[in-house]
Amino acid sequence: MKSLKSVLLGMGAAALVATPVLAVEWSYEGATGPENWGSLDEKYELCAKGLMQSPIDLAAANARAEVSLATSYRPGPLTILNNGHTVQANFAAGSKMTSGTMQFNLLQVHFHTPSEEVMHGQQYPMVAHFVHADDDGNLAVLGVLFEIGAANAELAKVIAAAPKTKTDAATVAGVTIDPNKMLPDDLDVFRFQGSLTTPPCSEGVNWHVAKDTVTMSAEQLRAFGGIMGNNARPVQPLNGRLLVAPAG
Ligand SMILES: [Zn+2]
Repeated sequence: MKSLKSVLLGMGAAALVATPVLAVEWSYEGATGPENWGSLDEKYELCAKGLMQSPIDLAAANARAEVSLATSYRPGPLTILNNGHTVQANFAAGSKMTSGTMQFNLLQVHFHTPSEEVMHGQQYPMVAHFVHADDDGNLAVLGVLFEIGAANAELAKVIAAAPKTKTDAATVAGVTIDPNKMLPDDLDVFRFQGSLTTPPCSEGVNWHVAKDTVTMSAEQLRAFGGIMGNNARPVQPLNGRLLVAPAG
């Protein structure tokens, strides 16, 4: 799964020069928008045919349980890119997330405005997706929903460094980012099986979405929105999946 990992880190550009296997362009509106992703390229067919797609409406929870989730994230240098669809910060090795008996390494965080996960059909202003992989290439995401309130100091660093247009990853000299400071104090989570929310919409992703939200300022939201525009895939059907809400 090394190739998927490199795609998730946005470092595929150099490889594409050597092997011209260009991905079909997709977007968030019109002919190349989410309703048509599944027919743009046969590699994207799960976007239309998959039965375990993300995002979902968390209000459709059909079970309750305490999910054992723990993060052990470390501050590190800020490495940032704009892949043309989102602003993304890549993390150095060493930050971990444990979900039940599974342990994952934190690869990157990226953002969607408005949020992709919704509650009773209601979108939040923004969601951060912390993307992880284990040593076998299994993926796990932790979603953190943002509401408008106090500014977030870590987001300020991301905004200040965010490329306005598509650019390869670059490390920002002298800036340290602490992923812990973008998490709520309590990590009570919704838990379900889902997919990448962008083409190729690959399934088998272990999804977690924190029940508690964190805040960002209206100005910070405008800054993200100004760079990314609307980059939220619409909610997908649950199709009988287990969706576990936190017990508390
Ligand atoms: Zn995402």
